Amino acid sequence: MNIPSPLAPLPTTTQHEQHGRYPRAESVEDFRHNLAAVAARMQAACQRVGRDPAGVRLLPVSKTMDEAHIRLAHAAGCRLLGENKVQEAYRKWEAMADLADLRWSVIGHLQTNKAKLVARFAAEFQALDSLRVAEALDRRLQMEGRPLDVFVQVNTSGEASKYGLPPEDVAAFLRGLPNYSCLRVRGLMTLAIFSGDAERVRHCFVSLRELRDRLRDGVPDGVGLGELSMGMSGDYEIAIEEGATVVRVGQAIFGARSLPDSHFWPTPGGPA
Ligand SMILES: *Cc1c(COP(=O)(O)O)cnc(C)c1O
Repeated sequence: MNIPSPLAPLPTTTQHEQHGRYPRAESVEDFRHNLAAVAARMQAACQRVGRDPAGVRLLPVSKTMDEAHIRLAHAAGCRLLGENKVQEAYRKWEAMADLADLRWSVIGHLQTNKAKLVARFAAEFQALDSLRVAEALDRRLQMEGRPLDVFVQVNTSGEASKYGLPPEDVAAFLRGLPNYSCLRVRGLMTLAIFSGDAERVRHCFVSLRELRDRLRDGVPDGVGLGELSMGMSGDYEIAIEEGATVVRVGQAIFGARSLPDSHFWPTPGGPA
């Protein structure tokens, strides 16, 4: 057996060539099949690096998918779904309030004027990257009388189009968070560079983990950095090899989206 040494990079490739081509899941059976296939790949990735699969959570991402498909995913066992746009998520939460055990994780950039919505319905917020948003969210959560699990988003790729704090700003940012008593900081989140070059992708995940390891001892009381949310359909196996505790997977479960990615991640010169 070929045991990879910690110094030699693992040969795992991205699955970006599949991007936009995943078949749409149209039945509970399709969802069960896709969920099992992703779970098997997650488990194999854990095995390659000696991790316990129980330490990695799959967050299915349902953005752009309609209510009928989300109900199929729920029937197949999904209980927490990731959405990148707050208003879309809020509408879905309202429409599917009859599914009492279905919870929502907001994984996209938030504007302060929408903090009220997140405070009302979200089970988790993964894209915290400014103190203004922290303050707005905390104020609304105080009014709702409840805490919220949050992840701090870090820009590990250096691309101007990506949200998130530059890595060098994260330590100071974390020091400001204990002022907001309703925010329960669980860890860090990132989006890797979108590239077929697996080593450049891996580099983003390694930098998030190393940043976390450097910051871990110095964080203020009440701030937890145990979680690393990183990896999507095209790169979650690499992310798991590098320490992900949450992978956010959309297309590999639901199928390809009809909207282009520029709709979610504004690119310079592209639609805002
Ligand atoms: C859409 C999205 C994902 C999932 O992307 P897929 O390619 O569909 O797996 C993960 N994270 C964030 C922040 C997203 O917006």
